[in-house]
Amino acid sequence: MQRIVYLNGEYIEESAAKVSAFDRGFLFADAVYEVTAVLDGKLIDNPGHLARLERSSKELGIKLPVTGEELTQIQRTLIEKNGLVEGGIYLQLTRGAEGDRDFSYSEDIEPTLVLFTQSRNLIESPKTKTGIKVISFADIRWRRRDIKTTSLLPACMAKHAAHEAGAEDVWLIEDGYVTEGGSSNAYIVTNEGTLVTRPLSNDILHGITRASLMKLAAELDLTIEERFFTIDEAYAAKEAFISSATTFVWPVVAIDDKPIGGGKPGEIALKLRDIYIKTALELAE
Ligand code: PLP
Repeated sequence: MQRIVYLNGEYIEESAAKVSAFDRGFLFADAVYEVTAVLDGKLIDNPGHLARLERSSKELGIKLPVTGEELTQIQRTLIEKNGLVEGGIYLQLTRGAEGDRDFSYSEDIEPTLVLFTQSRNLIESPKTKTGIKVISFADIRWRRRDIKTTSLLPACMAKHAAHEAGAEDVWLIEDGYVTEGGSSNAYIVTNEGTLVTRPLSNDILHGITRASLMKLAAELDLTIEERFFTIDEAYAAKEAFISSATTFVWPVVAIDDKPIGGGKPGEIALKLRDIYIKTALELAE
């Protein structure tokens, strides 16, 4: 059965959802995106994702052709039309197409907006039980990682290298410090029980799941340090984990083949995951 996809105001079968060869998203990765998780047919942490979309598009001067409310309505319609119970909704907004390839663009260019659903098991993911392995990898991305653009070639290369090394993800390293995961934020728990993650700046994506987790961690009275940490500190950590919209929290049990926490998912990671899912479901719309 074909998925129903939203493209520029229309709900159409996926095989009919075609974008111009001149679309700047295709030619220049001149585009921003968001992914919102869906549990029980409801949107998880969606206001945060829509607020970040608005910020990303504003930073790049890409016009958002619909309001946040209209976007939520489109997301809900797609959930309904595709019978989505659990998974995610991918949203991409490109600057649009002007019928030729040219670096510059005119002010009245019409954006391209596409949304589609992806059915996935998020709660019963086996990765929660086993945890994941990551490898360290050079962070070769641009300087505005706070903007969620579709320029994801460095992430594709890094994640492919991880896959070839028998790992599930990467932890990106810049100037000796961990920035974030390939498509996630990165955390360690020290032997003293302190939760450490890199502070927000243009060096990392401001994860929506990260924001919720930091609030929950504070409510749990965990000691939190938003500071730089090295990969050596991570090797010696009691726990490590990642967060993102569709993984929520996945424990990391090995970094560069060095076991973390005896190679087992950490207690704090699993606790945060449980509380995040419980709270997110209560707030789901
Ligand atoms: N960092 C990067 C580079 C990402 O690509 C993502 C998600 O795609 C995240 C962090 C996590 O962000 P969020 O929790 O909003 O999904």
